[in-house]
Amino acid sequence: SSGSGDAKALKVGTNADFAPFEFQGEGSDEYQGFDMDIIRAVGKEMGVNVEINNIAFDGLIPALQSGNIDIAISGMSITDERKQQVTFSDPYYDSGLTAMVKADNNDINSFADLNGKKIAVQIGTTGAEEAKKIPNAQVKEMNSSADTFLELKAGNVDAVLNDKPVNDYYMVKNSDSTVKRVGEKLTSESYGIALKKDNTELAAKINEAIQKLKENGQYNEIYKKWFGTEP
Ligand code: GLN
Repeated sequence: SSGSGDAKALKVGTNADFAPFEFQGEGSDEYQGFDMDIIRAVGKEMGVNVEINNIAFDGLIPALQSGNIDIAISGMSITDERKQQVTFSDPYYDSGLTAMVKADNNDINSFADLNGKKIAVQIGTTGAEEAKKIPNAQVKEMNSSADTFLELKAGNVDAVLNDKPVNDYYMVKNSDSTVKRVGEKLTSESYGIALKKDNTELAAKINEAIQKLKENGQYNEIYKKWFGTEP
């Protein structure tokens, strides 16, 4: 943690509503998750304090561009479109999209079955983009992945499309027998830490720090803590 007067502190933006990557634990303001552990370890490696700012997911890139934050770590997939707006670190986590439906839903057994269905997604995400490509789908854009689960449980949509590790964590954490996962991954995506387009110097330092964490075993330790396995 840090003081707000710390000029050297790394100003980090995240959308802390995306377990197990970034979230606020019950009864605690401390930001938790895989990304939070990674970025704190990166800060340590670089010898700087890390200041976490909780920002809407679709506000992260604008916050980088205006200089309000130095970096964004938020389960953000590296995409060609985003690469035109920001610089990404080397990939640090492999992800992709999966769908979930109600447990008693027998007509959606694959991605093809999502045609013409109501699908909840998080606004500004790759899930939202993919859902919009599904023929005749009615896409409902929510503020968070947590809201997509609520929408599904309420019966307002037929399916949700979220990052696989987020859907998987929801299932394990909530042992929710009213919903189930469908199909393999629809996409293969990698998460990167985003920076202002011209901030390649800091990007190089971050890549170096991540590489160190991979070499000294800390990356694996953090991975195991949140996903239960080695990467
Ligand atoms: N990985 C997805 C994306 O980059 C979702 C990220 C998120 O919701 N935090 O769009």
